[in-house]
Amino acid sequence: MSGVYTNIKFSQNAIAEFLDIYGNERIFVISDSVLKDKPEFSLLKKFSEIIWFDATNSEPRTTDVDTIRQQISQLPLVPDIILGIGGGSTMDLAKAGAVLATNAGPSEKYQGWGYNLNIGIKCVTIPTLAGTGAEISPIAVLKSPHKKLGINHPCVAPIQTIIDFSLTQSVSVNNKFFTLMDCFAHNYEIARSQTSSIFAVTIAKAGLGLCRDILSSNELSEPTLLSAEKAAAASLIGGLGTAGGRVGACHAISYGPSSLSPIKHGESVTLAMLALKEIYSDIYQEVGHYLSANKVRLPRIQDFDLRKGDIDGMTAVAMKMDLLWQSHYGEQWPQFVNPKSIAKVYEKMFDA
Ligand code: NAD
Ligand code: ZN
Repeated sequence: MSGVYTNIKFSQNAIAEFLDIYGNERIFVISDSVLKDKPEFSLLKKFSEIIWFDATNSEPRTTDVDTIRQQISQLPLVPDIILGIGGGSTMDLAKAGAVLATNAGPSEKYQGWGYNLNIGIKCVTIPTLAGTGAEISPIAVLKSPHKKLGINHPCVAPIQTIIDFSLTQSVSVNNKFFTLMDCFAHNYEIARSQTSSIFAVTIAKAGLGLCRDILSSNELSEPTLLSAEKAAAASLIGGLGTAGGRVGACHAISYGPSSLSPIKHGESVTLAMLALKEIYSDIYQEVGHYLSANKVRLPRIQDFDLRKGDIDGMTAVAMKMDLLWQSHYGEQWPQFVNPKSIAKVYEKMFDA
């Protein structure tokens, strides 16, 4: 069911190029609100149908998708194209909004794998933050009241992405770092998964190399177009890896805190990598080194108002990630994973 469905275009002026290609069509834009007043994004003002999504306060929720579905249904004419411009959160929201526009809501019922979906409105992405691979992946990760899980379906994949390295230059070191740690985790987990194809493993190793290059140098604090190009390539590779590859234990654990708090995905993934020291012993020190080399403070799980009393809730979320546990341990995963073993990992996170 996985694959690569998106045409990839490189550009030095992505929004202008988008307008050149799609300017005569009915366009509906979903943009990260942080871009609104940045001069390099001034062309966004040309669009009359635009939603400014606040990705700083929350990752996309199923209720956000349902609102967009409602807004689109009230337009006099259905849009031809939905443009998602921003980081993984905003692009995923655009992808989910595009597919839900032609499917009955609520969007929560499609979280998971294997649901029937009609082809949606065509979605185009322009990433402004590199690392998630969301610009090309057939996955839209959403939070709903009791879980965080992607809509995983070929219909979710954008038809086109336009990659412009210059658009990531204004991202803070902190945001770049944690999104790249997510990219590192994607490539690392796909490379060592029990269920990955040779294709996925091979390219994931290349992606890992790029992440290591950037994270171990000063490329985040002193960015150049070359380092932005490397990050864009690592991100694309992470997205390509979804063809035959799947993330594993670290992502399963990261979804617990993400479901119950506003922690950022990359932060939760980094906490999970460290808490899984026993099974990820080969990268434990490496991750610590990246934090200190980039002078980034790793938040504590308590910073997000989570307490040990939340461990049961987080465990219940992680226990639902069968396919991710299977990716890490293979078919025998139930021998290794149970509520007690997961709760132990969260205990470690609290005690770190
Ligand atoms: P994000 O989209 O949540 O954005 C993080 C922060 O960066 C936000 O404050 C945002 O406003 C800011 N930002 C974005 N572009 C900027 C720019 N050019 N200048 C200044 N600030 C900018 O971050 P992300 O890490 O890209 O995405 C995380 C989300 O992606 C999570 O929900 C995660 O689950 C999801 N994800 C999806 C996939 C997929 O395949 N669909 C893969 C991995 C992660
Ligand atoms: Zn991730």
